[in-house]
Amino acid sequence: LDAARLVASRVLDVPDFPKPGVVFKDLMPLFADGAAFREVVDRIIAYHGPESFDAVVGMEARGFVVAAAIAYATGVGVVPVRKAGKLPRAVHSASYELEYGEATLEVHQDAFTAGHRVLVVDDVLATGGTAAATLELVERAGGTVAGFTVLLELGFLGGRERLAPRPVHALLTV
Ligand code: 5GP
Repeated sequence: LDAARLVASRVLDVPDFPKPGVVFKDLMPLFADGAAFREVVDRIIAYHGPESFDAVVGMEARGFVVAAAIAYATGVGVVPVRKAGKLPRAVHSASYELEYGEATLEVHQDAFTAGHRVLVVDDVLATGGTAAATLELVERAGGTVAGFTVLLELGFLGGRERLAPRPVHALLTV
């Protein structure tokens, strides 16, 4: 089974979540399947190469799950990018527009050793706002973006175009 089909077979479409008209892609069945989860984690590592990064970043909250697994498997550290107000020490902040209002993400200012190559991972790429803010934060904190991978890309929302020319790797694009 290829990685795309593995993801496709374990995603549930949830209509009208978190609000009417939105079809939420629920990846919990993929996370809950031990063999499938290990397989997608291994595919991400193989795609980038286990020697190509010195740290892994995941975005709150589902990105943490994937990032921690990649970090453990490759022996590097994991750095969380969190929603505003959650990190206890000095942070860099990046805000981005949502359909209604604004969201802010933060990372500790001392999260990376200068020049550390950082693999960034999340579960889903939608409009790309979360990813754009995260990649900016990695660089402001002294890291170098080594790659960006999502399990699932919602291609029709234009996240990849928003992030261009940065490369986006997705195990599955719908
Ligand atoms: P974006 O900022 O690209 O519009 O949204 C991506 C962020 O929102 C990711 O952190 C992702 O976890 C979450 N997200 C947006 N839409 C979905 C969805 O349909 N399913 C899941 N699991 N997460 C989503």
